[in-house]
Amino acid sequence: MSYRALPLTCFCGEVPDRILEVGFTSDHSMVVHFWCSACSRVLFVSKPLSECQAECPEAGEEETRLETAEDTRFLESMGIAAE
Ligand SMILES: [Zn+2]
Repeated sequence: MSYRALPLTCFCGEVPDRILEVGFTSDHSMVVHFWCSACSRVLFVSKPLSECQAECPEAGEEETRLETAEDTRFLESMGIAAE
């Protein structure tokens, strides 16, 4: 399975080192709370689920394939079979 990462950056330009929570709103958006250690603050991004769906890669799209042999071994060690 390939996936496209959701880019998360703080206002200061740092990439957050910790995601606190992922949730969904009553108006059909996904919300991600994350922590920026550079600014010591909690930030969030929200994205409508329709946009999330539009950003899903096509099956077999190689450019966004991030899975490596190491990931596969990790998943298998957790009892999750790679597709
Ligand atoms: Zn920051």
